[in-house]
Amino acid sequence: MAQVTISNVAKAFGTVKVLHDVSVDIADGQFVVLVGPSGCGKSTLLRMVAGLETVSGGTIAIGERIVNNLPPAKRDIAMVFQNYALYPHKTVEQNMAFALKLRGTDPAVVAERVKRAADILDLNPYLKRYPRQLSGGQRQRVAMGRAIVRNPQVFLFDEPLSNLDAKLRVQMRTEIKELHQRLKTTTIYVTHDQIEAMTMADKIVVMRDGRIEQVGAPLELFDRPANLFVAGFIGSPS
Ligand code: ADP
Ligand code: MG
Repeated sequence: MAQVTISNVAKAFGTVKVLHDVSVDIADGQFVVLVGPSGCGKSTLLRMVAGLETVSGGTIAIGERIVNNLPPAKRDIAMVFQNYALYPHKTVEQNMAFALKLRGTDPAVVAERVKRAADILDLNPYLKRYPRQLSGGQRQRVAMGRAIVRNPQVFLFDEPLSNLDAKLRVQMRTEIKELHQRLKTTTIYVTHDQIEAMTMADKIVVMRDGRIEQVGAPLELFDRPANLFVAGFIGSPS
């Protein structure tokens, strides 16, 4: 596991600056939620941690290593997206094993990691099924399984529940939290949903227009919002 240190990070697409001087310290094992309205820069920040976007200024460190110039595969992270793009012609088992096989992992290790992920996520009854034979929640679990088997130092989630219906969203919130309590893997979780943030986070980072408005534990933000924006967003009466 590892801490993640985002220091004075900026991002511009051409001449358009979308992140300004963003700093966030994420402790080893912490579950941090980036929350804010659509377009405020959450995904861009997460993608920079993942190595899917370059950093225009500042540094990102995972553990002791500054990773600005490391490709995604060398960062020891695993990302779960909203559109979890399972391989349609592979079974659940094959979907989970694929990334490890690509890396040339020993088949015995692959089998053991897939078994462990299936146990954790209750996927054993579905291992031979194809994605089209699964419910939305089951597919989301397979997407998480693909992340878990890699034993990453850091999990990155980008709005992983936004395609699910309301009831399933509540259930998956609990499942993701239980997963975190079990594995204690450092997690950065992006959402625009303040209830998700309040119920899941050890620490919330509230963003607006490419800047951080406030960082704090859920109750801290609720009790002492730094400004009207945070108060309105978190839903505290003010
Ligand atoms: P969020 O995830 O909070 O909704 P994003 O990080 O996706 O926000 O986007 C932040 C801003 O950056 C938006 O204004 C978006 O239009 C812009 N943006 C994101 N990706 C690109 C890109 N590849 N090229 C140009 N602008 C982009
Ligand atoms: Mg986004």
